[in-house]
Amino acid sequence: MIGIIPANDKAQRLRLQRFFMAAICYLLWSALAIGMYYVDMLEVPKALMIPVFAGIALTNLYFYVFLRSGLNKRFRDPSLTFSQIVVAMSWVLVLMLASTQSRGAMLAVYVMCLLFGVFQLRNRDFLWLAAFGLIGYLGIVGVEALFLTERFNPRAEGLRLAVLFGTLLWAATFGSYVSGLRNKLRARNDDLASALEEVHHAARHDHLTQVYNRRYVMQTMKQEKQRADRTRRPFSIVILDLDHFKIINDRYGHLAGDRVLMAFSERSKGTLRGMDFVASDSPRTFGRYGGEEFIVLLPETDLGGAYRCAERIRYVTEDEPFDEVFRVSVSCGVAEYRLGESIEDTLRRADAALYRAKEAGRNQVVADDTPTSGIYRFSAGRDEENVVVGQFGN
Ligand code: GH3
Ligand code: MG
Ligand code: MG
Repeated sequence: MIGIIPANDKAQRLRLQRFFMAAICYLLWSALAIGMYYVDMLEVPKALMIPVFAGIALTNLYFYVFLRSGLNKRFRDPSLTFSQIVVAMSWVLVLMLASTQSRGAMLAVYVMCLLFGVFQLRNRDFLWLAAFGLIGYLGIVGVEALFLTERFNPRAEGLRLAVLFGTLLWAATFGSYVSGLRNKLRARNDDLASALEEVHHAARHDHLTQVYNRRYVMQTMKQEKQRADRTRRPFSIVILDLDHFKIINDRYGHLAGDRVLMAFSERSKGTLRGMDFVASDSPRTFGRYGGEEFIVLLPETDLGGAYRCAERIRYVTEDEPFDEVFRVSVSCGVAEYRLGESIEDTLRRADAALYRAKEAGRNQVVADDTPTSGIYRFSAGRDEENVVVGQFGN
């Protein structure tokens, strides 16, 4: 079912709402004109009344169909404000040409049409419309002065022209002023939106490495826990800690240390992206846990899969020096979430595994294999052959 106003296109909805505002003005104005006609204040011949009002209705229908069908979107200004105002002013001009006495009253409507432009038009458009309004009225006066001399009243027309000139000029200035305000508001809105975007980014990312920060990883982990509880598919985590990182700082300076942290993050993220052996398509979250510690969250991944992930990162870390000079290795602790435990418990187990990796000589991955003590272990027995605790490389 097609509604009068589209439900899901905000911009089109606004354009049609404005169209209906104008249509209501047309209706009020037409009712006034018809009323004036019946009390003999509008000296428009009857033969002209019907075609004029039919024409007004038809042009409105035309604009409605144009706007409703979306054809308007092909234009530079899809609201069609300029052309709608030109058409409205033209209809007022027609009635003004056909009447003399009530012309003054109609001038007010004439100027009102221009004010619809405050929604959309630029300064230049306002000036063009004011010029069109003035030239249009001058045309009427010219036609009367040349061909309808018997009803031409130079004094009255001179006064009207002066008033019209002043009013149009005022309306154009006012419209331009409002359009300037609108532009400023839009610019401020854009600034605000990008500031918000920056804040949003800063709230989730670590400022040095630009990977996710601890807060974001913890949030994601909470969601992952809920999902695992619901679906009974485990997730796993890896905590990584660069080995003897203090030495890098002491030997090459803190800035060099920072560069290694950034390069390590990049390399690890790239490695995670390229891993196709982890079952889940859900995004793997890599974040900075603090200092030279990082964390990986692997949705729908059991201990074995997580172990292989960690081992891959460990391998690529020691494989090539960072910035071609800094040889670094990493130790990893891996733990799989156990149904019913808190995420603090999972983290604690991963941390303990990491500690064991350090104790055992660093540059290695240790998977947590502590007894489950009544807590359900998702992948018990399945991946035992993949869970190897020991030193790789070297
Ligand atoms: P281990 O193998 O036992 O982990 O040795 P380590 O030297 O890495 O461990 P420790 O925790 O004693 O030192 C971590 C160092 O990481 C100390 C600190 O100066 C450095 N560090 C922490 N955050 C940053 C950082 O943002 N930039 C730099 N350059 N260094 C950092
Ligand atoms: Mg550390
Ligand atoms: Mg360390």
